[in-house]
Amino acid sequence: MTSRGNESEPIDPVAPEDACPQCGERECDELIWLDDERVECQRCKTVYRPAAKDLPAPAGGQADASPE
Ligand SMILES: [Zn+2]
Repeated sequence: MTSRGNESEPIDPVAPEDACPQCGERECDELIWLDDERVECQRCKTVYRPAAKDLPAPAGGQADASPE
């Protein structure tokens, strides 16, 4: 028997950086993709752009400013 009454444990969680910034929802079924880059949280109705999609990973470890 599996324990299903555990609300704090998402069944199919998305990446932490994709979680709802408002309520922290991570359950895949509660996060609906509106288009290619926007997600609507069904729990608090927040529309946001998941960080994972937002930022292209920097290719190299490029320091943008050296402390003078
Ligand atoms: Zn939310």
